[in-house]
Amino acid sequence: MSYDADNIFARILRGEIPSIKVYEDDETYCFMDIMPRSPGHCLVIPKTSCRNILDATTEQLSACMVTVNKVANAAMKAFGADGATLQQFSEAAGGQEVFHLHFHVLPRYEGMRMGPAGTMGDMDEIRENAAKLISAMG
Ligand code: 5GP
Repeated sequence: MSYDADNIFARILRGEIPSIKVYEDDETYCFMDIMPRSPGHCLVIPKTSCRNILDATTEQLSACMVTVNKVANAAMKAFGADGATLQQFSEAAGGQEVFHLHFHVLPRYEGMRMGPAGTMGDMDEIRENAAKLISAMG
């Protein structure tokens, strides 16, 4: 399977499609998921091309994990979350819909199940949650 440079996240990285940024460094970009499955759901992606976990380099994986760690800790602080779930889907059979490597960071709350996939969130609420995450990143 080859990398399609016109996937949605590649277009977000090129600034062709808007996104709600939470954090970025030289190697990674973190932005809010527009269909959040829990309050504060965001995505961490490498800035370089990579389809999923199957073709990722050690460098891409390491860089993403460092950012996941930062964002997950920020979510605990920002939302008073009780835990975090990290998800990654590879290929359609694995549940992947956007073919640029991404890690879902889902803040989790005692007694609250994850919501369904594919439901558009309230954009004002998503923006507010991004602002909370950003301030908690310090
Ligand atoms: P996966 O490929 O791991 O199944 O999930 C893709 C994720 O990308 C989904 O959680 C979906 O809500 C999110 N998503 C799809 N299109 C967009 C978009 O245009 N912007 C943002 N921020 N997220 C998106």
